[in-house]
Amino acid sequence: MFERVKMKPIKDHIWLMNDNDEATGYLVIGSQKALIIDTMNGYENVREIAETITSLPLMVVNTHGHPDHIYGNIYFEEAYLHPDDLALAQQFYQEPMFTEAIEQMKLKPADFRPIHAGDVIDLGGLELEVYGVPGHTPGGICLLDRQDRILFTGDSIIEQTWMQLEESLPMEVFLQSLDTLKSIRGEYDFILTGHSRDLEDASLYEAHRNAVKEVCEGKKENDIPYEWFGGTSKAHPYGSEPRRIVYK
Ligand SMILES: [Zn+2]
Repeated sequence: MFERVKMKPIKDHIWLMNDNDEATGYLVIGSQKALIIDTMNGYENVREIAETITSLPLMVVNTHGHPDHIYGNIYFEEAYLHPDDLALAQQFYQEPMFTEAIEQMKLKPADFRPIHAGDVIDLGGLELEVYGVPGHTPGGICLLDRQDRILFTGDSIIEQTWMQLEESLPMEVFLQSLDTLKSIRGEYDFILTGHSRDLEDASLYEAHRNAVKEVCEGKKENDIPYEWFGGTSKAHPYGSEPRRIVYK
């Protein structure tokens, strides 16, 4: 029925949604509500996909304002986003390729509602806590599920972090953001990123944070050119392939 989005069970109440290996979202099911973390590229109806698994009311949170995390918002009335990414997300909502496509589909994207660091999402018997991680984008968030010992990180803690983007904050600010997460490091064993295919070990946090610190300290002797659709940037490799921090 769905060609692009493949559902993979992570736990009996947590599903990974792999959108054609281009984006990853999650479905987290409580006793009263179910949460969709990132709606991916929007080619397929994320609402209907989630409804094949649960009949509970659906709530949507975007970890940040990039297209591969928000374009599936077209299947929902509202989506929660940190206000510091609102301008960025609205800008992507205005992309002609997107507006033309959804006009043909007779859909319009969800209105954004604000979510802040310190907020708690109560799904009934399962709570997720919101942590702000400005860096990759100004309004990036992570969600902590203490019960399942999982941290959902979007593109903030991920093997390849893009910090070369116009909207990315200075590396020093990103390092500070990552360091504010030290206090919860004992609360999760696994990380699920905005592009994961399966659970990733929580040690990705330290490896990634230390690599960001190395870039801040100017330890760039092993850095390499990095080609992407916006041109050529620099990449700071760490650990084993394909781990790298990409920067201007
Ligand atoms: Zn992103």
